[in-house]
Amino acid sequence: MNKYRDFDNYLKEYPSEDGYFGRYGGNYLTDPELIKAFAEYAEGYQTIAQSARFISELRRIRKDFQGRPTPLYHCERLSNLLGRMQIYIKREDLNHTGAHKLNHCMGEGLLAKYMGKKKLIAETGAGQHGVALATAAAYFGLECDIYMGEVDIAKQAPNVSRMKMLGARVIPVTFGNKTLKEAVDAAFEAYAREYKDAIYCIGTAAGPHPFPLMVRDFQQVVGDEARAQFLEQTGHLPDKICACVGGGSNSIGLFVPFLADPVEIYGVEPLGRGPKMGDHAATVTYGSEGVMHGFNSLMLSDEDGEPAPVYSNASGLDYPAVGPEHALLHDLGRVNYVTVDDEEAIEALFMLCRFEGIIPAIESSHALAYAIRTAKEGRPGSILVNLSGRGDKDLDYIAEHYGYGDKYIEKYLK
Ligand SMILES: *Cc1c(COP(=O)(O)O)cnc(C)c1O
Repeated sequence: MNKYRDFDNYLKEYPSEDGYFGRYGGNYLTDPELIKAFAEYAEGYQTIAQSARFISELRRIRKDFQGRPTPLYHCERLSNLLGRMQIYIKREDLNHTGAHKLNHCMGEGLLAKYMGKKKLIAETGAGQHGVALATAAAYFGLECDIYMGEVDIAKQAPNVSRMKMLGARVIPVTFGNKTLKEAVDAAFEAYAREYKDAIYCIGTAAGPHPFPLMVRDFQQVVGDEARAQFLEQTGHLPDKICACVGGGSNSIGLFVPFLADPVEIYGVEPLGRGPKMGDHAATVTYGSEGVMHGFNSLMLSDEDGEPAPVYSNASGLDYPAVGPEHALLHDLGRVNYVTVDDEEAIEALFMLCRFEGIIPAIESSHALAYAIRTAKEGRPGSILVNLSGRGDKDLDYIAEHYGYGDKYIEKYLK
């Protein structure tokens, strides 16, 4: 039990004032304009976001606009089918816009308003962060510039339409590989030029200080709600909790409120096609320490220290780094990082469709797959899964590559 009691003061200790989670995190930017911009950002976040007015306004937005609290749901049919372990899911798929990302985007939008900014700037890969941020911009009456690689724009037409319909400008990035990495570079450049009128809104719990702290704080609503709901529904805490880890925002939001509890915690990384470099995006499992995009953490890099190519069938998980707090929690031994490959995630996805009537995102299906794997071991107990998003965005891709699930489900129907 001592292992858990050590975490009573965790939130006071981490991050340090300059944004370090142990040796990870910090701010390694070198552009003098960006250094100024981030100093203003950190100062603004630390003063404004702690004020009673900010907190109560954000609480009201979460309830009236986002539809929070999202339900905690006991998957009884699925649990009974698999064994004795009781599987519970936190329904972030029912958060407005269909995923957890709006939790930090509404916080960032509100902060922009309080800081007197007129515009939100961000990059997007598959477009999920861009859509959530465009939603926040529309809500607060702010301009919104989303930088997106030309290749991604061509692949993600529905999300591009959503962003435009919500009033955002989608700015094509035409250099390099024309995907996420270049979009990040372009968005940082825009922020350096425009920070007097704009703030940069990161899409996950990574990047330079104060981003990992800020996104963690905004996402913590997930774990706070889930912990209270679990206690109310069952009278005890779950034995285990798990969430998928891309950059690490939905997972850190779930984990933090449970750190001081006697609960086993699992971060689930995408193993893609397998453990060979380039076939997965399991950063904590296979990565090493390095600096990328202005922060120090674990990452997957090539011989030159550049971000390595990564892959997962879940586009929200294929990121070559991980938020610094995960690197710390891994070093401290408090969170166990495990992997799930493409196929195991897809089987979990179809199981939730067929046995519970819920179509999850492929990202979230990675976390669910770990819970299913655990339940199959046959022991009693309970596991809480963060269902980070709904699968609507993935329907065409799933049908094309995996069909409608019959061959995955057959063996469970006997
Ligand atoms: C973006 C996304 C993720 C991965 O991001 P994290 O920052 O690791 O949480 C997971 N699930 C869904 C549904 C997403 O859209």
